[in-house]
Amino acid sequence: MNFQPACREKNQVSLFYKILVVYSILSLSLLITGYVYTNNLLYITFFILSLVVVAIYFYGVFEPSNNLFIKSLKGKDISPQEHFVLLRFDDGPDPNYTPRILDILKENKIQAIFAVTGENSLKYPHIIERIVKEKHILANHSYSHPYLISLYSFNKLHREIQRCNEVIEAKTRQKVKYYCPPMGHKSLALAKVLKKLNMSLLAWDLNTGDTRRGKEQIVNIIKDSIKAGDIVLFHDGIFKWTRQDREATVKSLEEIIIYLRNKNLVKEAE
Ligand SMILES: [Zn+2]
Repeated sequence: MNFQPACREKNQVSLFYKILVVYSILSLSLLITGYVYTNNLLYITFFILSLVVVAIYFYGVFEPSNNLFIKSLKGKDISPQEHFVLLRFDDGPDPNYTPRILDILKENKIQAIFAVTGENSLKYPHIIERIVKEKHILANHSYSHPYLISLYSFNKLHREIQRCNEVIEAKTRQKVKYYCPPMGHKSLALAKVLKKLNMSLLAWDLNTGDTRRGKEQIVNIIKDSIKAGDIVLFHDGIFKWTRQDREATVKSLEEIIIYLRNKNLVKEAE
């Protein structure tokens, strides 16, 4: 297999976005010229309608758990029992933090979701093996975690997701069923790609914001906001262009598990 970084490919922006941008520019120009010269309210109406279309589309792209383009699975869709909470760890595997998180989960017999990138899976295949061996759910988090993934065309997005599947499946010999998009960003192209790859989109219900918070804050977010059946988002991997560590995530985990257990929101894995 030949894994070239996706960024070397020609940047293909999806046709829908091109149309959307042209439409927005046109409607803005019409508003300015039309209104200035004719004072006609029709132009204002046209412009407002354009804004509504753009706003709906942006909601579909950026709100992580809506079903506008594609059904987003929630905790209750994949949890062994509807009321149990699932912990999800994104951006790994990481050679430092992922094994420590796996140790804590093993000690407490908790099953979690690991949304891994193809690049990191290629670097640390032994951690992928361990995640599967310890019966956690492995999900695709794209090959290279691009920021502008919601702008990708069908072909480019297909390649990004398929590459990650190839890396994981070469190690696990199991088909990857779930895709967790970077930043939770979706698109119309994504709906088509997942249908072609026969994969489901997995959202989160509660984001701990652990990439920018300390241990106490992370624990408090859980205590304040957790609901039965939630998928809770954490990060075990470090984003390549940031330099944060994941100490707060690892250190908050024991206390969170104790809290969830006392509330009967987690179940010991068999
Ligand atoms: Zn991510």
